[in-house]
Amino acid sequence: MKSVTRKATRHVNQNEGLIFEKSSAGKAAWKLPPLDVPEVDTQKLLGSSERKDLGNMPEVSEIEIIRHFTRLSTWNYAIDLGMYPLGSCTMKYNPRVNEVVSRLEGLANGHPYQPEKVSQGALRIIKTLSECLIEITGMDAITLQPAAGAHGELTGLLLVRAYHQSKGHPRKKILIPDSAHGTNPATAATVGYAVENLKSDARGMVDVAALAAQMNEDVAALMLTNPNTLGVFEQDIAKIADLMHAKGGLLYMDGANMNALVGKVRPGDFGVDLMHLNLHKTFSTPHGGGGPGSGPVAVKKILEPFLPKPVLITKADGTLGFEYDRPQSVGRVRAFYGNFGMFIRALAYTLANGPDGLRQTTEDAVLNANYIRKGLEGAYDLPYSTPSMHEVVFSDKLQGKKGVHTMDIAKRLIDYGFHPYTTAFPLIVPGALMIEPTESESTEEMDLFIEAMRSIAQEVEEDPEMVLAAPHTTRVSRLDEVAAARKPVLRWKPS
Ligand SMILES: *Cc1c(COP(=O)(O)O)cnc(C)c1O
Repeated sequence: MKSVTRKATRHVNQNEGLIFEKSSAGKAAWKLPPLDVPEVDTQKLLGSSERKDLGNMPEVSEIEIIRHFTRLSTWNYAIDLGMYPLGSCTMKYNPRVNEVVSRLEGLANGHPYQPEKVSQGALRIIKTLSECLIEITGMDAITLQPAAGAHGELTGLLLVRAYHQSKGHPRKKILIPDSAHGTNPATAATVGYAVENLKSDARGMVDVAALAAQMNEDVAALMLTNPNTLGVFEQDIAKIADLMHAKGGLLYMDGANMNALVGKVRPGDFGVDLMHLNLHKTFSTPHGGGGPGSGPVAVKKILEPFLPKPVLITKADGTLGFEYDRPQSVGRVRAFYGNFGMFIRALAYTLANGPDGLRQTTEDAVLNANYIRKGLEGAYDLPYSTPSMHEVVFSDKLQGKKGVHTMDIAKRLIDYGFHPYTTAFPLIVPGALMIEPTESESTEEMDLFIEAMRSIAQEVEEDPEMVLAAPHTTRVSRLDEVAAARKPVLRWKPS
């Protein structure tokens, strides 16, 4: 592939003023039909609250407003444009059948204040999805309330805390491996636990001997991602569970990576006591700007009394309804029963695939990650040789010799038309390139990605300065990402 040169088009690199200052007096994008009812005296109706003019609102024609928003949408990247290999995030395709089903009138127009007796269909969706997820995870009970993965973690650790308090021994610590997702230690600290770091071994797995030495009756739980953020399956998981249980601790599994396990193994069968799922990863609901998330928490029997309330039950007359009288519950963690629109989509995905389809999805996700691993071996350093599951983690060790680091390579990837991979973790791999294609990608798309990544490795050898200055094709190049996150400018204001 030829290297991409600076490409300025009217739509991409136009100057800020021309893009946003489109207003000219008297233009409108609407036209009302002539009034066919008597005119109302608005002054009498609204008094001094009546607005006489629109203030500083832009005045634009329909085509101008359409072009404005369409142009803005093209400055963004989306899974509907190409591969989105953001490791750990499982940016899979959002099937359109999910959208069709979630827009069915009775579902889309339903309201949580509707009486239960006219919401039986919606409640059945919640119940069926709950049953599917319990079956997939091998657990006993579930709450669909949490609105994201990290919110699921928070809910899970509130359950852990309530469980230990009920035993009269609250415990103080949570063990977290050094390969963990950043949300894990943040969650444990939020719930008031001390976080103790657990070292990984040379295979990139939990060091069982280190765990045995660190585990004691002060430890409430181990938070373990499996497969972990190296994309490696924790082969000693059953032994780890036994070690935790022998000292009265619980095993929490961060199940954000269930895309590697669905239909193959069930965490409930290998000793996990509680876990969260990310419907916006594994179960194909939109991710990031595309919609609200959903992070259900599945638990074993021992934790069921503490689940957030209300809990969905089948009542004596056979109808479905919510039960509020749950004296040991940690309380509500979310308004109503969570992000219902996501439950519809996740259930549509689950039922459309069926057990065999879901298993195939898992196999394809793992196959794709290994296809990319093979394709990039040699061009990039592979710090752990343990077999990959659904994602593969390289490092920038080879490119670092030329002063080019993972962030620079990720930025250059944008010029090739791909969203960057994950650069920020796992922390045990300095300069990580964490790549997850998901099952959605065809070999053609992955071949283009591999070619782009190999081409960048070549560019680093020949012209590192060019890579360091990337991206060259976007409207803005390198942003102050910290300021963008901490002081976002989200609203246009008239100048
Ligand atoms: C994505 C992810 C989370 C957090 O999920 P959010 O929905 O982004 O809050 C937690 N752990 C792992 C391993 C993840 O990949």
